[in-house]
Formats: sequence, structure tokens, C-alpha cells
Amino acid sequence: MAIPRLIAHRGGGSVAPENTLAGLRAAARLGYRGVEVDAMLSGSSTPVLIHDEALDRTTNGRGLVAETPDAVLFALDAGSWFGPDFAGERVPTLTAAAALCRELGLWVNLEIKPAAGYEQVTGESVARAARVLWQDAEPPLLSSFSAAALGAARRAAPELRRGLLVEVIPGNWRELCERLGCACLHCDAARNSTAAIEAVVEAGVPVVCYTVNDPEVAGTLLALGACVITDRLDLISDP
Ligand code: MG
Repeated sequence: MAIPRLIAHRGGGSVAPENTLAGLRAAARLGYRGVEVDAMLSGSSTPVLIHDEALDRTTNGRGLVAETPDAVLFALDAGSWFGPDFAGERVPTLTAAAALCRELGLWVNLEIKPAAGYEQVTGESVARAARVLWQDAEPPLLSSFSAAALGAARRAAPELRRGLLVEVIPGNWRELCERLGCACLHCDAARNSTAAIEAVVEAGVPVVCYTVNDPEVAGTLLALGACVITDRLDLISDP
């Protein structure tokens, strides 16, 4: 399946707490067919959805995700920081998120977000889990900034499509994608010219641009044939 043109950033973008089940529901409710989420390993080595290595910003906990066992992690509130309507929202397991995405018919870009020092084990665990969780369904697109995580994911589940995440598109992007077995390139929309993005699209490699919150910029990139990850699910729709 082609990558959806519009993808909700961290699940629910700016309309729900990031990387939560509530966010996934919000994306589906607003008509999004694709979501991007971040997967990291807990202190019990369970793949969970969370962006930061530290718990502080998006939960009422303290310390590092990689040092927090599941019994502690899953008792935390991951919604109140965003707003009282989301009090009691939890850090979801990848298993729970996959089940909900399948139920809602959401395509997933699963960013492998290893804590420092956990690159290979995270890439391997997330890919293995994804293979099982999306069995008999459209599998997620794995992506990462970490070459080590992408390599481990490739060895663990070579059949899963992977994307290389970069900020600025490097001159040797094609060679890098080939070496890492990546079928698409994810880049920072603000740090690349439309010409640079268009050159990759025209070379036949799908480009996913993050994080585009201006409808006009989104329109330009979509017109080029790029896909767009956005927080503004309330503002940006596919023309
Ligand atoms: Mg991400």
C-alpha cells in the first residue's frame, strides 16, 4: 500500500496527548488514515509508545523510560499534562496501540526511538513485535534516525518496509538508503528546499516530510508528491 499523503504526528498531533490511545482515536475521528508514533523499550524491555527518554514531559513520572519497570510505567498518567479531559490516559504498549490501529483502520509509521545505548535491542524488539502484531494486516512502516536500530530491525524482520529519518537530506541519500535497506526517506520539511525534496520524489523514492503545521506548506509538499506528517489535524486535510 502507498504511504498515506497525510500522517498524524505522534498519534493525535496537537489535538490529544502524544503517543496515547486517545491520540489514535482522535486521528481516526478527524479523518486521518495514517499515524506516526514513537516506540521505545521500557525498563522491562516492553515496546511502548513514548517520544522522550525521560518520563517528565509527557507523564506524571520522573526518570528514564529505560529504567522504569512496567508496573511503575503503566500506572503513570500520560494525559493530564495535556489537559484534564485526558486524565488517566496511560503510556500504551505497542501491543495495545497496534490492536487499536487495526480496529480503526489506521496505517502506521512506527518510529523506532531507542534510548541511548539501546539502539540494536530496540530495533530488533520493535520489528519482531510489529511482525506479529500486524500479521495478516498492512504492516507498519518502520523508521529511525538510528542506523543501528534500522539494521537490527532489518535482520529481525526483513520483510517490513523501512524509512531512513534525517534532518537535512544528505548528498549521498541514495547510497545510505540502499546500504540500510530503506525504501523511503523522512526529512525535516523546514530544513530542506522544495527542490531537494522534489529531487528525491522524482528519483522514485517516497519522501515523508515532518512536521508540517502550515496548511500552505503542506499543500506545496503534497503537490510535489511528498507525504506530510502534521500536528494540525484540525487545520490540514488533503485537498
Ligand atoms: Mg517520531
